[in-house]
This record gives sequence, structure tokens and C-alpha cells, in this order.
Amino acid sequence: MLTLKGKSVFPGITIGPLALFHRNTISTAAHPIDDADAEVARFQKAREESIAQLKELYNKAVDKVGEEQAAVFEVHQMMLDDDDYIESIEGKIRNDNINAEAAVNQTGQEFAEMFRSMEDAYMQARSADVLDISHRVIQQLCGGPGLDMSKFDHVIIAANDLAPSETLQLDTDKILGFVTSEGSTNSHTAILARTLGIAAVVSTGNLLHDDVEGMTAIIDGLTGTVYINPDEATLTLMWKKQQEEEIRKGRLEQLRGVPSQTLDGKTIKVYANIGNPNNIPQVLDNDAEGIGLFRSEFLYLENTDYPTEDQQFEAYKKTAEALGGKTVVIRTLDIGADKKVDYFKLDPEDNPAMGMRAIRICLTRVDLFKTQLRALLRASAFGKIAIMFPMIISVGEVKKCKEIIGEVRQELDEKGIAYDHEMEIGIMVETPAAAVMSDELAKEVDFFSIGSNDLTQYTLAIDRQQTKLDDFFDPHHPAVLRLIQRTIEMGHKGGAWVGICGELGADLTLTETFLRMGVDELSVSPPAVLPLREKIRTIDLSKEPEA
Ligand code: PEP
Ligand code: MG
Repeated sequence: MLTLKGKSVFPGITIGPLALFHRNTISTAAHPIDDADAEVARFQKAREESIAQLKELYNKAVDKVGEEQAAVFEVHQMMLDDDDYIESIEGKIRNDNINAEAAVNQTGQEFAEMFRSMEDAYMQARSADVLDISHRVIQQLCGGPGLDMSKFDHVIIAANDLAPSETLQLDTDKILGFVTSEGSTNSHTAILARTLGIAAVVSTGNLLHDDVEGMTAIIDGLTGTVYINPDEATLTLMWKKQQEEEIRKGRLEQLRGVPSQTLDGKTIKVYANIGNPNNIPQVLDNDAEGIGLFRSEFLYLENTDYPTEDQQFEAYKKTAEALGGKTVVIRTLDIGADKKVDYFKLDPEDNPAMGMRAIRICLTRVDLFKTQLRALLRASAFGKIAIMFPMIISVGEVKKCKEIIGEVRQELDEKGIAYDHEMEIGIMVETPAAAVMSDELAKEVDFFSIGSNDLTQYTLAIDRQQTKLDDFFDPHHPAVLRLIQRTIEMGHKGGAWVGICGELGADLTLTETFLRMGVDELSVSPPAVLPLREKIRTIDLSKEPEA
């Protein structure tokens, strides 16, 4: 038995086989080859594997989103069978004597350019598809995707580290848990595990080698321990712990439908955080009273190209309708820092968390911003949507955002498209600048939502991604708590309601402190909703706080 100690991300207990995720380096640099026949055979094998993947994706997508949406995977299979495409690649390998990765990349680029220059809008749109299929083949040539999930029913994923976009590409229905040797508890992959209620331990320090593949592992998310190839005694102990967890869950079940109210009668809104509409079942199962943070950038992270206005509209509408009139706060695009996708073509930066991210991208690329705002406004006719802007640092930015919303509203009015004219507009308070300026900012918005993850990062000048700094990353630091207190006070003075949607909102040791500060809403990962409600119901604000 191998025992690893790490940091817990979600306090579940899970037992299952281990599967290793490998991050293969993708390179399309051209180099001369010795054996053209062998290189063509490599290409053909990668092409066939890609077609097999697409078949599986198609079948899964039909079940999940229906035939119409799944059709793209069929189109991609046909494109990979196209004679011109295959001939071009094989020609480059044989005539230019170059490796398959370079030949596929060059052909993909040339075909994409050809499609882009066509008159017909449908053909132009194929340019993204040809790049996508080429990327798939190149990925196969470079060692395949990080993990072929088709081999497993249910697995515990072991990795060195996982980027949010990598995590999103895995089939979450099959994931029992995560264990990573690196990674911080504040990372977006950790947040994703929490949203899904998947047991996860990060930062175990030990790299796992291929020989553990398929072995049984236990993740004890209560203590941050991972057991690989556990002995009988450990297995028995963990089964017992699992049963105790089930009993605790049963107790929390009793709190469904019960108000989140203190003993002295103050009601707090307990909302849930989600990344995409796939998380709606978790929101409803855990009886959240609304959605306090829809991280819309996950729609971008799971895509290989910009999601269209209609794709976004469908996602927002579906969420608003599923919540049946309860509030759904949708945050506009917060891409950048660790949340990156290739198609944004962001310049490499030494300091991406302080770089071109979130609202800065939207205010620089207004077309992109307007596409999202149109989708959001159109969806607001189908439920109670509120819009929230991330990473705000100034009143000027908020005014600019509102001006752009005004322009989008006008466009919709001219076209007679319905939207909610009363829709609330708010901002994340997640920079010290916003917290300091909260008195002025409150006059501009309907609500504040405090992003304690970034507020801690920027106040303490500590990279939230940096595992080595986890011991210094202290969201309980008095500087952070004072900024939160100020934000709540100033928000209320200016007539805005104030919530917390960072991970700190779920920290039960601070619930009473936040309630005493006067917070109106706490938005937490869905599995944290009922434990938070349970905690709120034990608090009596009429009594002096315990020292
Ligand atoms: C935060 O910063 O606290 C927050 C909620 O946003 P994210 O974690 O997505 O950066
Ligand atoms: Mg943030």
C-alpha cells in the first residue's frame, strides 16, 4: 500500500481504479524523415483513431444534447475521410519529406484559409472545423489525448496537474475523484471538483508512475489522504467512513426546502456556483435558492472556437428556465490567467493574473463582449437573469460596461427582441481597488459579489495557483476580512445588496462573521449549500458573539 498526503479539495471518500492523465507536448515543427511509407502509416493510424473518437463523441452527444447539436461530430468524421485533405497531407509527407505532424498542420492551415476566402457563410464556417480535425489528428500523432476515458466505466484520475480546459474535456460522469501531485486548492480545477462534488486531493508531491495504472485507490477527502493498493484494514476503515458520510448526507437531506434562517430570524440567500448548464442537476439536487455565480467562461473553455451568440443564448436560457424564476447571476467572460484557450490567441505574458484578462479583454474586444451581452439579454426574457462583470477596478469601467449594454439594448429594441428591462447589473469585488472604491461603485450597480479567491490573491500579493505558497495564502487575513467588511458596508450605504461568491463563502468557520457583517447572499459550490444552511440555522445574531 502506498499512502500519499496532500490537500483536500472536496471532503468526499471514493474508492476505484486509478487512471493516469498524461499531458503530451504538441509540436508541429517540420523535420526531415527517413521513411515516407512509415510516416504515411503513422498519419493513417492517427486519422483512424481520430475518427473512432469522433464516433464515440457523436453517440454521447446524441444522448446528451440531441442529434442536431451532435451533427458536428459526424461532419468532422466526413472531413477526415475527404480525399483532397488526405492527398494533400500524404503529398507533403512524400514530396516535401516532412513529418506527419507538420504535414497535417500545414494542410489544416491551407484548407482553413481556402474556406475563409469563400463567399458562402456556411463554407467560411468550415474553416474552424478543418482546424479542429487537424488538431485532433496532431494530438493523436503526439501521443493521444491526456487520457482515453473510453477504456473505463469509472475512474480516479491521477495527474501531475490539470488545467481547467483539460478537466472539462474529461467525461465527468465517469470520474470518481482526482489526485494530483501538484495543483493548488484555489485553482479552477479544484473549484470544478467542488462543483461536481467529486472527492479530490491535490499537491501530494509524489509523481505517480505508470505502474499504478489500474490499481485500486482510495481518496479520503476528509483528511487529504490517498491510499494506492490499500490493504484490507484500510479498505474496511474507509468503507465505514463512507457509511458515516452517507448518514451525514441523510441528515442534510432534512434541510431541503427549509429556510436558510438564523435562530433570531434573519434570512440569508444561499445560492450555488456553476460553470455550465450541465451543473443544473447539482444545483437543484442540493436545493440552492438561486445561482450566485455562473462562470460563463467555462462555455468558452470547453469549445475549440468562440461559442456563437445562439449557443450561449441556449445555455443561459436553459439555466434561467431550469431555475424557474429564481435568480441566476451570470458573470461575463473571465478568461485569462489560468483559464486559457488557444483560439483567443492571447499574447504570452510574464504575469497573466495581472494581465489581459476578464473585463479587460471584453472592453478591448467589444464585438466579442456584445455577442455575449446579446445572448444574455435575450435569455433574460426566460427567467430572472442578473449580469455581473469580473475584475472591475474603477467606476469608469462600470460606466463603459453599462454604456455597451445600453447599445445592445437599443439594437434589440430596434429588432423588437424581448428582454428583461429590470435586469439587475452587478460587479465582482475581487480587486483591492474595487473594495476601496466600493462607496462610489455601489452607486452604479444593483449588487456586489465578493470574489474572495482573487481578492485574497491581489490583497496579499500571492499567486493563488502557486502550490508552494498555499501556506501563505490566507483568506482569513485581517486585510482581506476588512476589505470584505468595507465592501458590505459601502454596498449597503449605496443601496446595493452584497454577496460572497468566492470559496470563502463556504467556510463555515466564517459564516457567523459574515452574517454579523451583514452579508445578504452566500454563493457556494452546490454540495456546500446544505452544510451552509445547517450552519446558518445554528447562529443567533441577537446574542453576543463568542470570544
Ligand atoms: C473569485 O475570484 O473569488 C471568484 C469567485 O472568481 P474565480 O474564482 O472564477 O476567479
Ligand atoms: Mg475571480
